Formats: sequence, structure tokens, C-alpha cells
Amino acid sequence: MLKKWGADFFNTLLEHADGTQARAGFRGYRVTVMLPPAPSASTEIGQPMRQRDTRQRRAIRNVFLSVERPLTPEQVLELGQTAVPSLGLATVYRNVKILCTEGWLSEVELPGAGMRYELAARPHHHHFVCRTCDQAYDIDDCPDTIEEMAPPGFRVDDHEVILYGRCPECV
Ligand SMILES: [Zn+2]
Ligand SMILES: [Zn+2]
Repeated sequence: MLKKWGADFFNTLLEHADGTQARAGFRGYRVTVMLPPAPSASTEIGQPMRQRDTRQRRAIRNVFLSVERPLTPEQVLELGQTAVPSLGLATVYRNVKILCTEGWLSEVELPGAGMRYELAARPHHHHFVCRTCDQAYDIDDCPDTIEEMAPPGFRVDDHEVILYGRCPECV
């Protein structure tokens, strides 16, 4: 009897495996074994993403790392397609959202084009928006005394500075 519960028995088990449980009959006994869930490529921590996703995500990250200014998804698409021609707008939107959730990107609301995104790790800075081409550029300087402009009795938590004009290409 014990001998029978060897390799043959487990072969039977495997033949009946449907991914979540396996059943086997042995001399009138019905045996059900619960199998651990199969690792899923998209949800399992530490599992590599599908090759295609990885390549597209990397291309999108590289766009932000190389330009260092706020970008709309359309601009990300245009720049990303030089590395991955098959990149689509839906993929850009999806990945930009994921990268925001992960804290790698942050949203930048500037007048003009819709929502733009930039590297979340950028230190405090401001923006220049070109009124001709609608590109946004980073400005590293911050006026030290700007928060002193608040009326007496007001406490300032944060500030925004946006310069408008035309970029060197549009002047
Ligand atoms: Zn411009
Ligand atoms: Zn500032």
C-alpha cells in the first residue's frame, strides 16, 4: 500500500491538475490536493514583467531622465517612439499613472496643455511656459523673498512661480 503512494500516485495527481487543485482516486479514496497558485507575471513581487512591458516602461523612464522637463503624455509618446516605435498613447498613459503611484513621477498642473508629468525626485523649482510651442521648462532659481509678499498675519505654506514667454526656438 505504501509503495503505491509513490511516483505512480503523484503522476496521477499531476495528470488531473487543473492549476488550482489536483484530484486522484486510489482504491476507493478520493484525494484532493490544493496546489499553490501559479505565479502571475504581473502581480508576483520580484517576478520580471513581460518583456514587452519592461521595454516600454524603460523607454518611458528614459524619456523623462533625458529631457528633465515636464512632459505631456503626447510628448512622452513622440520622444519614446524613437526608442520603441510600437509605443502607443494608451501604454504611455497607463505607465505614467503607474509611475506616479510608485512615486517616481509627479503631476504638474500648468496652464496650456493638459496634465504634465515630471520626475518626482526633482528638488524645488519653477517653470517657464512657452506661449508659442506650449513646452514647459524647468527653472532652478527660486526668489528667496517671495513668501514675504503675503499680507501680515498670513502664513505661507507653499508657492508657485510660472514665467511666460517664448523659448529660444520660438523667439
Ligand atoms: Zn517655444
Ligand atoms: Zn520657489
